[in-house]
Amino acid sequence: MESERLRELDRIVLGEIWTTDEAWRNLVFLCDDLGHRFAGSQQERRAAEFLAERMRAYGLENVRLETFPIATWERGPCHLAVVEPLERDLPAIAMPYCPTARLEAEVVDVGEGELPDFERLASTIPGRIVLTDAETNRPGERKSHRTDKFNWAIQRGAVAVLFVNQNPGQLHITGSLTGRNPNGWRAVDREAPIPGLGVTYETGSFLRRLAERGRLRLRIATENRTRDAESANVIGEIPGYRRPEEIVLVGGHYDGHDIAHGASDDGAGTVVGLEVGRALARVRGRLARTVRVICFGAEELGLLGAYSHAAQAAARGERIRFVLNLDGAGRGTGGQEQLVLSGLPELVPYFRDIARALPYDFVIRDELNAHSDHFPFALRGIPNATLSSRDATAGMIGRGWGHTEADTLDKVTLRSIQLAAALAARLVIRLSEDDAFPGRQRTPEEVRQQLADAGLLERVRATEGNVI
Ligand SMILES: [Zn+2]
Repeated sequence: MESERLRELDRIVLGEIWTTDEAWRNLVFLCDDLGHRFAGSQQERRAAEFLAERMRAYGLENVRLETFPIATWERGPCHLAVVEPLERDLPAIAMPYCPTARLEAEVVDVGEGELPDFERLASTIPGRIVLTDAETNRPGERKSHRTDKFNWAIQRGAVAVLFVNQNPGQLHITGSLTGRNPNGWRAVDREAPIPGLGVTYETGSFLRRLAERGRLRLRIATENRTRDAESANVIGEIPGYRRPEEIVLVGGHYDGHDIAHGASDDGAGTVVGLEVGRALARVRGRLARTVRVICFGAEELGLLGAYSHAAQAAARGERIRFVLNLDGAGRGTGGQEQLVLSGLPELVPYFRDIARALPYDFVIRDELNAHSDHFPFALRGIPNATLSSRDATAGMIGRGWGHTEADTLDKVTLRSIQLAAALAARLVIRLSEDDAFPGRQRTPEEVRQQLADAGLLERVRATEGNVI
């Protein structure tokens, strides 16, 4: 399928990407000027307005903010102290949707916090504070998610959960907690029933040494607020000239956690998507299908922007051909991109052929997971993949610097943004042009089977009952 026509489009688009530092300057504004972009905050809304203004300046069409209701969360003071067997104040942070709480209780250490750990210790959990590893997955491994552990603790009567970061460096781990009613959207639904705090590897290690001596009692005092608010997806389009009703959707989430810049997760992916839009606007009128660039809001609070867009697009009867999610694209120093498909084995050889033809070497894997903005589209059977760039934390546990204070602008480079944007733009050109694209929409029954095969069906039924 590689033709001189595709090469010519590539030459224009790659020339555009490799001859400016526009994308880097966009990322500097998002990170240094705005700081964090926590969903529902002023900074998130200012970022949305900035991204829409950039899209208009780049010549994208139908630029708009697609708003949706969310529950946002505001961090207040958080105190953690050992009261027995000795007295010590320790650093800790409340995690998003943590309620205001003041309590004192004994600790039970569930180690990694997999389900058998909770089952083994079930009789000791009621009335206690659960101490658990936050994320334990090494590269390529699949382990339970923070929200699974939080739910298991609540179901067994815990009064609070302490999540221990598994990477040294005095870094607190964060991530949103499950609410009282995960199917609801309002503050009363989304506030967590018990507190969840993030502690550093070093604090966690100290607590575990104390727990081994015998009785360990802690005091927690934290004040936070969950309230109703609004977030927005930012959307701009390059209309197709031949099949404008068919859409290739590309972009990352521009919101981030409130303790860092959210540069790698996912400021970098956001500016990669914007750069794809800027470069493809130069070949407007020459792409067969519509390319829709999207910057998702409120990913970190539960993929809320992606759920909203997937639902709104379905309600409008839109035909989304493919979703290229850019969560994690453009971080690090570049040159080690990977494309993870969502249970679509027929597309592995398709993208391998593209990689050979470009020629540009990137990793292609097929593995359905539930933890980023591709997932609401996967639930609707829409073919999708997530493009990410490996960075210096590729050998670390879990998200590495992601979801900690270390996710800052200095971990991203212009070169990595350019490499990811160049690859994403060339993939989008081919997804727009190729009449013989083999990806096909899954039926609801096929989606249920995919979820069952990936071990995700029970969780999806519990938390996304409105979709599946
Ligand atoms: Zn992310």
